[in-house]
Amino acid sequence: MVDGQGKVHLVTGGSRGIGRAICLTLSGPGDVVYFNHYDPDEAAAQETVALLDQAGVRAFAQKFDVGDPEQSRAWVEQAAQAQGRLDNLINNAGITMDALLVRMTPEQFERVLRVNLVGAFYCLQAAAKVMMKQRSGSIVNVASVAGQIGNPGQANYAASKAGLMALTKTAAKELAGRGVRVNAVAPGFIETEMTAAVPEKIADLMKAMIPLGRAGQPADVADVVAFLCSDAARYLTGQVLHVGGGLYM
Ligand code: NAP
Repeated sequence: MVDGQGKVHLVTGGSRGIGRAICLTLSGPGDVVYFNHYDPDEAAAQETVALLDQAGVRAFAQKFDVGDPEQSRAWVEQAAQAQGRLDNLINNAGITMDALLVRMTPEQFERVLRVNLVGAFYCLQAAAKVMMKQRSGSIVNVASVAGQIGNPGQANYAASKAGLMALTKTAAKELAGRGVRVNAVAPGFIETEMTAAVPEKIADLMKAMIPLGRAGQPADVADVVAFLCSDAARYLTGQVLHVGGGLYM
């Protein structure tokens, strides 16, 4: 955890997995974290709120689909209005709906693009307007190694993550002149509920390909996100940092 300075952080998909680790790592006492989630079962989100509470961080959880333009924009705008500033936005919410290319339905393709890429665009656009005015801010998009190397069964997911990387670079170029940095992380194989759904045989094959010899943990990604949002990364923008134990070089 970093020392809080009354900063305001927005994290999509903060109820569990990598998003929860980001909420906890990015913030410190005195900070404010807004995060969203989509599961009607609020238990995981409430646990994240409790953990932030214990760390002296004010937390606001909201349930909505990040792929909904009105709700995503309103979430960002209301947070900025209530706090009077916006320091960091982390577009982390993501889903998979795997199927081989020839069997993938239009619904599977479009839903994954909507949540992973279009939702990130809605939040990024709303946050950019606030950050450009205040002439500071950092945005980090959570992409994936799949966006660069592809993955069988994940045409939708890989396309959404490649799109996120292109969105990152374009936004970085457009916003740099106003003091706003935009970067991405591309995790490899991280142990969360998302990867728990991967069949054991495939998971073992993937782990065997990781040069550092282990699957990643949510904190491994969260630490890099916190670095990208910190002053130590003040001269970094438009970058995609791979956090995969060397899976992609
Ligand atoms: P996870 O454990 O499945 O968590 C996903 C998070 O996204 C949850 O908080 C979930 O909230 C939220 N979410 C899902 N659909 C949403 C929607 N429509 N609107 C708002 N929130 C939504 O996944 P994870 O492994 O932590 O992944 C986090 C990010 O890292 C994703 O973008 C993923 O693609 C990326 N990533 C993960 C890995 C990996 O190995 N795990 C590798 C590369 C990239 P609810 O539970 O409430 O729905």
